[in-house]
Amino acid sequence: MTFQDLNLTTPLINALEDLGLSTPTPIQEQSFPVILSGRDMVGIAQTGTGKTLAYLLPLLKTLKYSEQKNPRILIMVPTRELVVQVVEELEKLTTYINARILGIYGGTNINTQKQLVAQGLDVLVATPGRLYDLAINRDLQLKSIQKLVIDEVDVMLDLGFRFQLNNILELLPANRQNIMFSATMTVEVERVIAEYFRNPETISVAASGTPLENIHQQMFEVPNFYTKVNLLQHLLKDKETFHKVLVFAGNKRIADRLFNQLDPLFPEECTIIHSNKTQNYRLRSIRQFGDGFCRILVATDVMARGLDIEQVSHVINFDTPAYPENYMHRIGRTGRAEREGQSILFTTSSETEALEKIESLMNRKIEVSPLPEAVEISSELIPEEQPKDQEIYNPLSHTDEDKPGPAFHEKSEKNKKVNLGGSYRREIKKKYKKPKTRGDKNYNRKKKK
Ligand code: ADP
Ligand code: MG
Repeated sequence: MTFQDLNLTTPLINALEDLGLSTPTPIQEQSFPVILSGRDMVGIAQTGTGKTLAYLLPLLKTLKYSEQKNPRILIMVPTRELVVQVVEELEKLTTYINARILGIYGGTNINTQKQLVAQGLDVLVATPGRLYDLAINRDLQLKSIQKLVIDEVDVMLDLGFRFQLNNILELLPANRQNIMFSATMTVEVERVIAEYFRNPETISVAASGTPLENIHQQMFEVPNFYTKVNLLQHLLKDKETFHKVLVFAGNKRIADRLFNQLDPLFPEECTIIHSNKTQNYRLRSIRQFGDGFCRILVATDVMARGLDIEQVSHVINFDTPAYPENYMHRIGRTGRAEREGQSILFTTSSETEALEKIESLMNRKIEVSPLPEAVEISSELIPEEQPKDQEIYNPLSHTDEDKPGPAFHEKSEKNKKVNLGGSYRREIKKKYKKPKTRGDKNYNRKKKK
Protein backbone atom coordinates (compact mmCIF):
# COMPACT_ATOMS: atom_id res chain seq x y z
CA MET A 1 0.00 0.00 0.00
CA THR A 2 1.35 3.41 -1.01
CA PHE A 3 -0.09 6.92 -0.86
CA GLN A 4 -0.74 6.54 -4.62
CA ASP A 5 -3.24 3.80 -3.82
CA LEU A 6 -5.31 6.24 -1.76
CA ASN A 7 -6.23 8.12 -4.94
CA LEU A 8 -4.92 11.37 -3.59
CA THR A 9 -4.85 14.44 -5.78
CA THR A 10 -1.62 15.16 -7.66
CA PRO A 11 -0.77 18.26 -5.60
CA LEU A 12 -1.02 16.19 -2.42
CA ILE A 13 1.03 13.33 -3.84
CA ASN A 14 3.69 15.82 -4.88
CA ALA A 15 3.75 17.42 -1.46
CA LEU A 16 4.12 14.00 0.20
CA GLU A 17 6.92 13.21 -2.19
CA ASP A 18 8.68 16.43 -1.18
CA LEU A 19 8.36 15.29 2.41
CA GLY A 20 9.85 11.94 1.53
CA LEU A 21 6.72 10.02 2.52
CA SER A 22 5.51 7.12 0.41
CA THR A 23 3.69 4.57 2.58
CA PRO A 24 0.76 5.30 4.88
CA THR A 25 0.92 4.06 8.44
CA PRO A 26 -1.84 1.65 9.60
CA ILE A 27 -3.93 4.37 11.26
CA GLN A 28 -3.60 6.51 8.12
CA GLU A 29 -4.62 3.69 5.85
CA GLN A 30 -7.62 2.70 7.94
CA SER A 31 -8.92 6.19 8.73
CA PHE A 32 -8.76 7.41 5.15
CA PRO A 33 -11.90 5.76 3.69
CA VAL A 34 -13.94 6.43 6.83
CA ILE A 35 -13.16 10.14 6.89
CA LEU A 36 -13.80 10.39 3.14
CA SER A 37 -17.19 8.74 3.60
CA GLY A 38 -18.28 11.60 5.84
CA ARG A 39 -19.00 9.36 8.81
CA ASP A 40 -18.08 10.31 12.35
CA MET A 41 -14.88 8.62 13.40
CA VAL A 42 -12.88 7.86 16.52
CA GLY A 43 -9.24 6.89 16.02
CA ILE A 44 -7.19 5.36 18.81
CA ALA A 45 -3.49 4.82 18.25
CA GLN A 46 -0.30 5.26 20.18
CA THR A 47 1.80 8.42 19.99
CA GLY A 48 4.00 8.57 16.92
CA THR A 49 1.76 6.46 14.69
CA GLY A 50 1.02 9.34 12.31
CA LYS A 51 -2.40 10.48 13.44
CA THR A 52 -1.96 14.02 12.09
CA LEU A 53 -1.72 12.94 8.47
CA ALA A 54 -4.46 10.41 9.12
CA TYR A 55 -6.96 13.25 9.25
CA LEU A 56 -5.19 15.92 7.20
CA LEU A 57 -4.93 13.87 4.02
CA PRO A 58 -8.61 12.93 3.58
CA LEU A 59 -9.70 16.40 4.68
CA LEU A 60 -7.43 18.12 2.18
CA LYS A 61 -8.41 15.74 -0.57
CA THR A 62 -12.01 16.91 -0.36
CA LEU A 63 -11.37 20.57 0.41
CA LYS A 64 -12.69 22.62 -2.50
CA TYR A 65 -11.45 26.05 -3.44
CA SER A 66 -13.68 28.72 -1.97
CA GLU A 67 -13.70 32.45 -1.43
CA GLN A 68 -16.00 32.46 1.53
CA LYS A 69 -14.59 33.96 4.69
CA ASN A 70 -15.67 31.52 7.36
CA PRO A 71 -13.66 28.39 8.01
CA ARG A 72 -15.05 25.04 6.89
CA ILE A 73 -12.65 22.78 8.73
CA LEU A 74 -11.91 23.15 12.42
CA ILE A 75 -9.06 21.27 14.09
CA MET A 76 -8.90 21.53 17.86
CA VAL A 77 -5.74 20.60 19.72
CA PRO A 78 -4.87 20.95 23.41
CA THR A 79 -1.73 23.10 23.30
CA ARG A 80 -0.25 25.98 21.35
CA GLU A 81 2.79 23.87 20.45
CA LEU A 82 0.45 21.46 18.73
CA VAL A 83 -1.31 24.31 16.90
CA VAL A 84 2.05 25.36 15.50
CA GLN A 85 2.97 21.79 14.61
CA VAL A 86 -0.31 21.03 12.83
CA VAL A 87 -0.19 24.35 10.96
CA GLU A 88 3.33 23.55 9.79
CA GLU A 89 2.24 20.14 8.60
CA LEU A 90 -0.73 21.70 6.80
CA GLU A 91 1.46 24.26 5.11
CA LYS A 92 3.82 21.61 3.84
CA LEU A 93 0.95 19.52 2.51
CA THR A 94 -0.68 22.47 0.78
CA THR A 95 2.42 23.68 -1.03
CA TYR A 96 0.64 23.07 -4.34
CA ILE A 97 -2.90 23.81 -3.14
CA ASN A 98 -4.57 27.13 -2.65
CA ALA A 99 -5.76 26.84 0.94
CA ARG A 100 -5.99 29.46 3.64
CA ILE A 101 -4.78 28.13 6.96
CA LEU A 102 -4.77 29.83 10.32
CA GLY A 103 -3.60 28.78 13.76
CA ILE A 104 -4.87 30.52 16.89
CA TYR A 105 -3.99 30.02 20.54
CA GLY A 106 -4.00 31.84 23.84
CA GLY A 107 -1.21 33.85 25.39
CA THR A 108 -0.77 36.04 22.32
CA ASN A 109 -2.41 39.24 21.13
CA ILE A 110 -6.05 38.51 20.42
CA ASN A 111 -6.47 41.58 18.21
CA THR A 112 -3.85 40.37 15.76
CA GLN A 113 -5.72 37.09 15.58
CA LYS A 114 -9.05 38.89 15.03
CA GLN A 115 -7.53 40.65 12.05
CA LEU A 116 -6.21 37.40 10.63
CA VAL A 117 -9.61 35.75 11.07
CA ALA A 118 -11.24 38.69 9.30
CA GLN A 119 -9.12 38.10 6.22
CA GLY A 120 -10.92 34.81 5.64
CA LEU A 121 -9.75 31.23 5.98
CA ASP A 122 -10.50 27.61 5.08
CA VAL A 123 -8.86 25.58 7.82
CA LEU A 124 -8.66 26.75 11.40
CA VAL A 125 -6.36 25.08 13.93
CA ALA A 126 -7.00 26.21 17.50
CA THR A 127 -6.82 25.60 21.20
CA PRO A 128 -10.26 25.48 22.85
CA GLY A 129 -9.81 28.50 25.14
CA ARG A 130 -8.85 31.12 22.56
CA LEU A 131 -11.23 29.64 20.04
CA TYR A 132 -14.11 30.08 22.44
CA ASP A 133 -13.14 33.68 23.22
CA LEU A 134 -13.14 34.59 19.53
CA ALA A 135 -16.34 32.73 18.78
CA ILE A 136 -18.35 34.07 21.69
CA ASN A 137 -17.44 37.66 20.79
CA ARG A 138 -18.51 37.03 17.19
CA ASP A 139 -15.07 37.75 15.85
CA LEU A 140 -15.13 34.27 14.44
CA GLN A 141 -18.10 32.60 12.75
CA LEU A 142 -18.32 28.85 13.21
CA LYS A 143 -21.56 28.39 11.28
CA SER A 144 -19.79 27.12 8.17
CA ILE A 145 -17.83 24.36 9.88
CA GLN A 146 -18.51 21.10 8.09
CA LYS A 147 -15.75 19.00 9.56
CA LEU A 148 -14.48 19.02 13.10
CA VAL A 149 -11.32 17.27 14.26
CA ILE A 150 -10.55 16.97 17.96
CA ASP A 151 -6.96 15.82 18.18
CA GLU A 152 -5.27 14.50 21.32
CA VAL A 153 -8.64 14.60 23.00
CA ASP A 154 -7.41 12.61 25.99
CA VAL A 155 -4.84 15.29 26.76
CA MET A 156 -7.39 18.03 26.15
CA LEU A 157 -9.76 16.59 28.73
CA ASP A 158 -6.96 15.86 31.11
CA LEU A 159 -5.89 19.49 30.95
CA GLY A 160 -9.38 20.47 32.03
CA PHE A 161 -10.74 21.74 28.70
CA ARG A 162 -14.00 19.85 28.96
CA PHE A 163 -16.03 22.98 29.64
CA GLN A 164 -14.60 24.91 26.69
CA LEU A 165 -14.89 21.88 24.46
CA ASN A 166 -18.57 21.45 25.30
CA ASN A 167 -19.24 25.12 24.73
CA ILE A 168 -17.62 25.07 21.33
CA LEU A 169 -19.42 21.90 20.32
CA GLU A 170 -22.68 23.63 21.16
CA LEU A 171 -21.78 26.53 18.86
CA LEU A 172 -21.08 24.35 15.84
CA PRO A 173 -23.70 23.59 13.21
CA ALA A 174 -25.47 20.33 13.95
CA ASN A 175 -24.86 18.97 10.50
CA ARG A 176 -21.15 18.30 10.53
CA GLN A 177 -18.68 15.44 10.52
CA ASN A 178 -16.97 14.72 13.84
CA ILE A 179 -13.52 13.19 13.90
CA MET A 180 -11.52 12.48 16.99
CA PHE A 181 -8.03 11.15 17.64
CA SER A 182 -6.55 10.02 20.88
CA ALA A 183 -3.74 7.86 22.12
CA THR A 184 -5.70 6.55 25.06
CA MET A 185 -9.34 5.89 25.65
CA THR A 186 -10.77 7.17 28.91
CA VAL A 187 -14.20 7.36 30.47
CA GLU A 188 -14.23 11.10 29.83
CA VAL A 189 -13.38 10.64 26.16
CA GLU A 190 -16.18 8.14 25.87
CA ARG A 191 -18.56 10.65 27.42
CA VAL A 192 -17.76 13.24 24.75
CA ILE A 193 -18.32 10.64 22.05
CA ALA A 194 -21.64 9.55 23.52
CA GLU A 195 -22.85 13.12 23.77
CA TYR A 196 -21.73 14.60 20.47
CA PHE A 197 -20.87 11.89 17.97
CA ARG A 198 -23.34 10.16 15.71
CA ASN A 199 -22.78 6.46 15.35
CA PRO A 200 -19.01 6.82 14.91
CA GLU A 201 -16.78 4.19 13.43
CA THR A 202 -13.95 3.40 15.83
CA ILE A 203 -10.56 2.58 14.42
CA SER A 204 -8.17 1.25 16.93
CA VAL A 205 -4.62 0.37 16.13
CA ALA A 206 -2.95 -1.68 18.80
CA ALA A 207 0.51 -0.44 19.62
CA SER A 208 2.33 -1.69 16.57
CA GLY A 209 5.57 -3.47 17.04
CA THR A 210 5.09 -3.68 20.79
CA PRO A 211 7.82 -6.09 21.73
CA LEU A 212 5.41 -8.46 23.44
CA GLU A 213 8.04 -11.18 23.20
CA ASN A 214 10.36 -9.10 25.35
CA ILE A 215 7.82 -8.56 28.07
CA HIS A 216 7.06 -11.17 30.65
CA GLN A 217 3.46 -10.75 31.77
CA GLN A 218 1.82 -12.09 34.86
CA MET A 219 -1.15 -11.21 36.97
CA PHE A 220 -2.57 -11.53 40.46
CA GLU A 221 -6.21 -11.79 41.33
CA VAL A 222 -6.66 -9.36 44.19
CA PRO A 223 -9.99 -8.57 45.84
CA ASN A 224 -9.68 -4.85 46.66
CA PHE A 225 -7.60 -1.69 46.99
CA TYR A 226 -6.01 -2.37 50.38
CA THR A 227 -5.09 -5.93 49.47
CA LYS A 228 -3.50 -4.54 46.32
CA VAL A 229 -1.51 -2.16 48.50
CA ASN A 230 -0.39 -5.08 50.67
CA LEU A 231 0.66 -7.06 47.61
CA LEU A 232 2.48 -4.11 46.12
CA GLN A 233 4.28 -3.53 49.39
CA HIS A 234 5.26 -7.19 49.48
CA LEU A 235 6.65 -7.07 45.95
CA LEU A 236 8.46 -3.77 46.34
CA LYS A 237 10.36 -5.00 49.39
CA ASP A 238 12.64 -6.76 46.95
CA LYS A 239 14.55 -3.65 46.00
CA GLU A 240 17.06 -5.38 43.81
CA THR A 241 14.52 -6.94 41.48
CA PHE A 242 12.07 -4.06 41.58
CA HIS A 243 14.59 -1.34 40.93
CA LYS A 244 12.64 0.93 38.57
CA VAL A 245 8.92 0.49 38.86
CA LEU A 246 6.22 2.34 37.02
CA VAL A 247 2.87 1.87 38.75
CA PHE A 248 -0.19 2.74 36.70
CA ALA A 249 -3.44 3.80 38.32
CA GLY A 250 -6.64 4.32 36.38
CA ASN A 251 -7.34 7.86 37.56
CA LYS A 252 -5.95 10.74 39.62
CA ARG A 253 -7.96 9.88 42.69
CA ILE A 254 -6.74 6.31 42.89
CA ALA A 255 -3.22 7.45 42.06
CA ASP A 256 -3.26 9.91 44.98
CA ARG A 257 -4.80 7.37 47.30
CA LEU A 258 -2.17 4.82 46.36
CA PHE A 259 0.69 7.27 46.70
CA ASN A 260 -0.51 8.26 50.17
CA GLN A 261 -0.30 4.61 51.19
CA LEU A 262 3.02 3.87 49.52
CA ASP A 263 4.93 6.95 50.53
CA PRO A 264 5.10 6.13 54.26
CA LEU A 265 5.93 2.49 53.48
CA PHE A 266 8.81 3.42 51.21
CA PRO A 267 9.90 6.86 52.37
CA GLU A 268 11.80 8.89 49.77
CA GLU A 269 11.49 6.14 47.21
CA CYS A 270 8.14 7.12 45.70
CA THR A 271 7.01 9.85 43.44
CA ILE A 272 3.84 10.59 41.53
CA ILE A 273 2.72 12.25 38.32
CA HIS A 274 -0.75 13.20 37.17
CA SER A 275 -2.36 16.23 35.61
CA ASN A 276 -3.45 17.86 38.87
CA LYS A 277 0.19 18.28 39.84
CA THR A 278 1.96 21.48 38.85
CA GLN A 279 4.29 21.51 35.89
CA ASN A 280 7.28 21.85 38.24
CA TYR A 281 6.15 18.96 40.38
CA ARG A 282 5.68 16.77 37.31
CA LEU A 283 9.11 17.64 35.94
CA ARG A 284 10.71 16.88 39.27
CA SER A 285 8.91 13.55 39.51
CA ILE A 286 10.10 12.52 36.07
CA ARG A 287 13.66 13.59 36.83
CA GLN A 288 13.77 11.79 40.16
CA PHE A 289 12.44 8.61 38.65
CA GLY A 290 14.54 8.87 35.51
CA ASP A 291 17.74 9.45 37.47
CA GLY A 292 16.99 6.53 39.73
CA PHE A 293 16.67 8.73 42.78
CA CYS A 294 13.16 7.39 43.30
CA ARG A 295 12.57 3.84 42.22
CA ILE A 296 8.76 3.97 42.27
CA LEU A 297 6.66 6.25 40.08
CA VAL A 298 2.87 6.26 40.36
CA ALA A 299 1.30 7.57 37.16
CA THR A 300 -1.97 7.85 35.29
CA ASP A 301 -2.36 6.68 31.70
CA VAL A 302 -2.44 10.06 30.01
CA MET A 303 0.49 11.49 31.94
CA ALA A 304 2.72 8.53 31.34
CA ARG A 305 2.51 9.21 27.61
CA GLY A 306 4.90 12.10 27.80
CA LEU A 307 7.50 10.06 29.59
CA ASP A 308 10.45 8.64 27.82
CA ILE A 309 12.14 6.65 30.49
CA GLU A 310 14.52 3.85 29.77
CA GLN A 311 15.14 0.68 31.68
CA VAL A 312 11.92 0.46 33.59
CA SER A 313 12.28 -2.88 35.35
CA HIS A 314 8.58 -3.40 36.04
CA VAL A 315 5.27 -1.99 34.95
CA ILE A 316 2.66 -2.62 37.57
CA ASN A 317 -0.94 -2.23 36.53
CA PHE A 318 -2.59 -1.40 39.80
CA ASP A 319 -5.90 -1.84 38.07
CA THR A 320 -7.02 -3.49 34.86
CA PRO A 321 -7.56 -0.80 32.23
CA ALA A 322 -11.03 -0.88 30.71
CA TYR A 323 -9.61 -0.07 27.28
CA PRO A 324 -7.20 -2.74 26.12
CA GLU A 325 -5.07 -0.29 24.11
CA ASN A 326 -4.15 1.42 27.36
CA TYR A 327 -2.77 -1.85 28.69
CA MET A 328 -0.60 -2.15 25.59
CA HIS A 329 0.68 1.41 26.07
CA ARG A 330 1.42 0.72 29.71
CA ILE A 331 3.38 -2.48 29.26
CA GLY A 332 5.23 -0.98 26.30
CA ARG A 333 7.01 1.19 28.88
CA THR A 334 9.14 -1.75 29.84
CA GLY A 335 11.03 -4.23 27.71
CA ARG A 336 12.40 -1.47 25.51
CA ALA A 337 15.46 -1.70 23.38
CA GLU A 338 15.67 -5.49 23.35
CA ARG A 339 15.68 -5.70 27.10
CA GLU A 340 13.58 -8.10 29.06
CA GLY A 341 10.67 -6.29 30.71
CA GLN A 342 8.24 -7.36 33.40
CA SER A 343 4.59 -6.52 33.58
CA ILE A 344 2.39 -7.33 36.54
CA LEU A 345 -1.35 -6.88 36.44
CA PHE A 346 -3.60 -6.63 39.47
CA THR A 347 -7.14 -7.59 38.67
CA THR A 348 -10.35 -7.82 40.67
CA SER A 349 -13.45 -9.85 39.90
CA SER A 350 -15.23 -6.71 38.73
CA GLU A 351 -12.59 -6.27 36.03
CA THR A 352 -13.09 -9.60 34.29
CA GLU A 353 -14.55 -8.03 31.18
CA ALA A 354 -11.62 -5.62 30.85
CA LEU A 355 -9.20 -8.52 31.27
CA GLU A 356 -10.92 -10.51 28.55
CA LYS A 357 -10.64 -7.59 26.15
CA ILE A 358 -6.92 -7.31 26.82
CA GLU A 359 -6.33 -10.99 26.32
CA SER A 360 -8.31 -11.01 23.13
CA LEU A 361 -6.43 -7.99 21.75
CA MET A 362 -3.10 -9.69 22.43
CA ASN A 363 -4.45 -13.05 21.43
CA ARG A 364 -2.84 -14.60 24.45
CA LYS A 365 -3.63 -15.36 28.06
CA ILE A 366 -1.85 -13.74 30.95
CA GLU A 367 -0.44 -16.23 33.39
CA VAL A 368 -2.05 -16.08 36.85
CA SER A 369 0.28 -16.14 39.84
CA PRO A 370 -1.00 -17.18 43.25
CA LEU A 371 -1.13 -14.47 45.87
CA PRO A 372 1.97 -14.85 48.09
CA GLU A 373 1.02 -16.16 51.51
CA ALA A 374 2.64 -13.25 53.27
CA VAL A 375 0.16 -10.89 51.66
CA GLU A 376 -2.62 -10.07 53.99
CA ILE A 377 -6.14 -9.98 52.56
CA SER A 378 -7.86 -6.82 53.67
CA SER A 379 -11.62 -6.63 53.97
CA GLU A 380 -11.72 -2.89 54.18
CA LEU A 381 -13.16 -1.08 51.20
CA ILE A 382 -12.47 2.35 49.80
CA PRO A 383 -15.52 4.47 48.93
CA GLU A 384 -15.34 3.48 45.27
CA GLU A 385 -15.56 -0.16 46.28
CA GLN A 386 -18.54 0.19 48.62
CA PRO A 387 -21.60 -1.64 47.40
CA LYS A 388 -23.73 0.78 45.44
CA ASP A 389 -27.06 -0.95 45.96
CA GLN A 390 -27.93 1.06 49.06
CA GLU A 391 -30.94 3.13 48.29
CA ILE A 392 -30.15 6.80 48.19
CA TYR A 393 -32.69 9.15 49.68
CA ASN A 394 -34.59 10.59 46.81
CA PRO A 395 -37.05 13.35 47.77
CA LEU A 396 -38.88 13.03 44.45
CA SER A 397 -39.88 9.47 45.18
CA HIS A 398 -41.81 10.55 48.27
CA THR A 399 -45.21 11.74 47.23
CA ASP A 400 -46.24 12.89 50.66
CA GLU A 401 -44.18 16.03 51.01
CA ASP A 402 -45.25 16.93 54.52
CA LYS A 403 -44.31 13.63 55.96
CA PRO A 404 -40.80 13.70 57.40
CA GLY A 405 -38.67 10.94 55.93
CA PRO A 406 -37.31 8.84 58.77
CA ALA A 407 -35.40 6.79 56.25
CA PHE A 408 -33.38 9.86 55.42
CA HIS A 409 -31.97 10.11 58.92
CA GLU A 410 -31.28 6.42 59.12
CA LYS A 411 -29.38 6.49 55.88
CA SER A 412 -27.30 9.48 56.77
CA GLU A 413 -26.26 7.88 60.04
CA LYS A 414 -25.34 4.74 58.20
CA ASN A 415 -23.36 6.64 55.61
CA LYS A 416 -21.43 8.41 58.29
CA LYS A 417 -20.29 5.10 59.66
CA VAL A 418 -19.19 3.79 56.29
CA ASN A 419 -17.17 6.88 55.51
CA LEU A 420 -15.17 7.06 58.74
CA GLY A 421 -11.95 8.71 57.64
CA GLY A 422 -8.66 7.22 58.67
CA SER A 423 -10.21 3.95 59.69
CA TYR A 424 -7.43 2.04 58.00
CA ARG A 425 -4.83 3.64 60.25
CA ARG A 426 -6.90 2.71 63.27
CA GLU A 427 -7.09 -0.87 62.08
CA ILE A 428 -3.34 -1.00 61.63
CA LYS A 429 -2.84 0.51 65.05
CA LYS A 430 -5.14 -2.01 66.65
CA LYS A 431 -3.27 -4.81 64.99
CA TYR A 432 0.30 -3.70 65.62
CA LYS A 433 -0.25 -1.76 68.85
CA LYS A 434 2.42 0.65 67.72
CA PRO A 435 3.10 2.71 64.64
CA LYS A 436 3.97 0.35 61.86
CA THR A 437 6.36 2.46 59.88
CA ARG A 438 8.45 5.53 60.21
CA GLY A 439 5.90 7.43 58.16
CA ASP A 440 3.14 6.57 60.61
CA LYS A 441 5.24 7.57 63.56
CA ASN A 442 5.78 10.99 62.01
CA TYR A 443 2.12 11.21 61.39
CA ASN A 444 1.31 10.51 65.05
CA ARG A 445 3.94 12.88 66.31
CA LYS A 446 2.66 15.69 64.18
CA LYS A 447 -0.85 15.09 65.40
CA LYS A 448 0.07 15.28 69.08
CA LYS A 449 1.60 18.71 68.77
P1 ADP B 1 0.89 11.04 16.41
O1 ADP B 1 -0.04 12.21 16.28
O2 ADP B 1 0.22 9.74 16.16
O3 ADP B 1 1.67 11.04 17.69
P2 ADP B 1 2.33 12.35 14.28
O4 ADP B 1 1.21 12.59 13.34
O5 ADP B 1 2.79 13.51 15.07
O6 ADP B 1 1.99 11.15 15.25
O7 ADP B 1 3.53 11.73 13.45
C1 ADP B 1 4.70 11.29 14.06
C2 ADP B 1 5.88 11.36 13.09
O8 ADP B 1 5.74 10.40 12.06
C3 ADP B 1 6.00 12.70 12.41
O9 ADP B 1 7.34 13.10 12.43
C4 ADP B 1 5.55 12.44 10.99
O10 ADP B 1 6.19 13.28 10.08
C5 ADP B 1 5.92 10.99 10.79
N1 ADP B 1 5.04 10.32 9.82
C6 ADP B 1 3.71 10.45 9.73
N2 ADP B 1 3.21 9.68 8.76
C7 ADP B 1 4.25 9.04 8.21
C8 ADP B 1 4.37 8.08 7.13
N3 ADP B 1 3.32 7.65 6.44
N4 ADP B 1 5.61 7.62 6.83
C9 ADP B 1 6.68 8.06 7.53
N5 ADP B 1 6.63 8.94 8.53
C10 ADP B 1 5.44 9.44 8.87
MG1 MG C 1 -0.86 13.67 17.41
